[in-house]
Amino acid sequence: DPQLNQNYTFENFVEGECNRLARSAGYAVANKPGGTSFNPLMLYGDVGLGKTHLAQAIGNEIKKNLPDKLVIYVSCEKFCQQFVDSLKNNTINDFVNFYQAMDVIIMDDVHNFAGKEKTQDIFFHIFNHLHQSGKQIILTSDKAPKDLSGLEERLLSRFKWGLSADIQIPDLETRMAILKKKMYSDGIELPETVVEYVATQIDNSVRELEGAMVSLLAQSTLNKKEIDLNLAKSMLKNFVKNTHKEISMEYIQKLVCEYFEVPVEMVKSKVRKREIVQARQISMYLAKNHTKSSLKSIGNFFGGRDHSTVIYACQTVEDLIETDKKFKTYVQDIQKKLKTS
Ligand code: ADP
Ligand code: MG
Repeated sequence: DPQLNQNYTFENFVEGECNRLARSAGYAVANKPGGTSFNPLMLYGDVGLGKTHLAQAIGNEIKKNLPDKLVIYVSCEKFCQQFVDSLKNNTINDFVNFYQAMDVIIMDDVHNFAGKEKTQDIFFHIFNHLHQSGKQIILTSDKAPKDLSGLEERLLSRFKWGLSADIQIPDLETRMAILKKKMYSDGIELPETVVEYVATQIDNSVRELEGAMVSLLAQSTLNKKEIDLNLAKSMLKNFVKNTHKEISMEYIQKLVCEYFEVPVEMVKSKVRKREIVQARQISMYLAKNHTKSSLKSIGNFFGGRDHSTVIYACQTVEDLIETDKKFKTYVQDIQKKLKTS
């Protein structure tokens, strides 16, 4: 029993710019486990963006094509717990042998190894054994290997051997496609306007996107109301309250652009006009301080810039806040609007 969720398949995984590399590397691995240079394959990204789904899809695909392969899916947390138990019960050898006998190991959320030195040691040996025997290792993590902290250097260096591929938040079009796919598989039809509305409002996590749709369906059943834009709007108000919805980058961008009266597209463009640059830099600064987005995804969002541009923008804004009173008021005003929204 490989512990896989049968619903997490490639067929159910919507492809977009946000996950293209991760998905295609995953597909290659699934069709040739241990036989590509993507070993280990490390999938990383923020919470709720599909890492577990994709990692398990690889496992399911392998079991479908190569049923004799021994595949195990285990969360890092469970692995750590099993290790502690095996110490207590004196069954360390069984524990190690079990994992070393696998053809494919999928370990979810390896950032949870942080601080657990003994478990890392054991996993280091299992990793080496599997890798040397040409077995496939698939890992997921909330950060790229180079940004992981609390892990031993020798283990991290192994994690960097193969391919690290990130998964980002899907763009609006992909979020709509994901919603439609879920509805289709549940046999539900929603008006296009509702799908678009929900996908526009929820732009930080696919998991939340699904959650919103579930609430919408529940509300419609409970109140015997048809699902239309009005119901979606009133539902989302509550949903947003209940889940303490985080401020999104899209929202920051909207507020900043309204404030400075610059067109939204300009912020994402390459235009270097002073007021556009200012709006862009303040947006990046606010995104860094008010969202959980990584520097990389902030840069990506604001016109496909790299993380060093974001660092530079934040530095510039911080300097100006110190030296320019008027500028400081601008930023404070926008921040107030952000918080009261
Ligand atoms: P993570 O492990 O990164 O926190 P999950 O894999 O648990 O995220 O994904 C959260 C939910 O979103 C799951 O129900 C998953 O099926 C769904 N999901 C995420 N990305 C996609 C996608 N590209 N297509 C379809 N469903 C997705
Ligand atoms: Mg997960």
